[in-house]
Amino acid sequence: MSPLRLPARGILREVCDALASLAFPAPCRICEATLETASRLPICRECLSSLRPFPGPGCQKCGRPFVSALAALAKQPLCGLCRRDVYGFDLARSYGGYSATMVRAVVLLKHDAVTPLGDWFAARLAEVVAGEPESLAADVVVPVPLHPARLRERGYNQAELIARPLARRLGLPCRSELMVRIKPRPAKLKLTRHERWESVRGAYAIRERARVDNLRVLLVDDVLTTGATLDSCARALRKAGAARVVGLTVARAMSDWAGPSWSREQQAREGPGDLSA
Ligand SMILES: [Zn+2]
Ligand SMILES: [Zn+2]
Repeated sequence: MSPLRLPARGILREVCDALASLAFPAPCRICEATLETASRLPICRECLSSLRPFPGPGCQKCGRPFVSALAALAKQPLCGLCRRDVYGFDLARSYGGYSATMVRAVVLLKHDAVTPLGDWFAARLAEVVAGEPESLAADVVVPVPLHPARLRERGYNQAELIARPLARRLGLPCRSELMVRIKPRPAKLKLTRHERWESVRGAYAIRERARVDNLRVLLVDDVLTTGATLDSCARALRKAGAARVVGLTVARAMSDWAGPSWSREQQAREGPGDLSA
């Protein structure tokens, strides 16, 4: 095909999308406002622009944003948990906070497999990686695995819907077959902090015959809540010989943080989000 035809195809698709939106005006899947233009991403511009990145700075290790600007001025700014060396991963970073809009977006990906949203999240995580190219450099992208029973029930792994397009953007292989969850998640919906840690202890393993020695791994998940999941996966990977494990999540849930750029009204309206996901 000649290169000249490519833009023409793009225009044709836009025209088709516009006609489709006139015939079937679709609501935004988050706020239900009618979408102005048809797009593969069923979320309006306002909702997307409210999914903001953390303004930074945060803990050098786990990325947790600092509430106080003073902490960021420390020589090696680490949060309380990282000062106690709690986590088994080398670094973790998240794109943004778990606001009410973010909760709904993550639920859309998790329960409705809205793959264009996985692509959008992947683009945001690629920006995070581009912001710290040296410390976030990797050889492979690995999604946090679901237990096989859960995978059969859901039909897909939401972390993989983010990890695959992210790997494509970074020019890295996505190796979802490397890891397996061997211990199912407890049936109870809401877990306490302690139960979360207990439920993932020893829950992940490297598949038989999978080789991870000397690999630098970007471990991808949708939400970081306590960090227990990334910690458990990272320990399994490091034990099997991985050189470095960096956790990357779209959102980070924190009950006590709403971001320095947020007003009190925004905090009251958007809150810390549902911490059960
Ligand atoms: Zn919307
Ligand atoms: Zn930390």
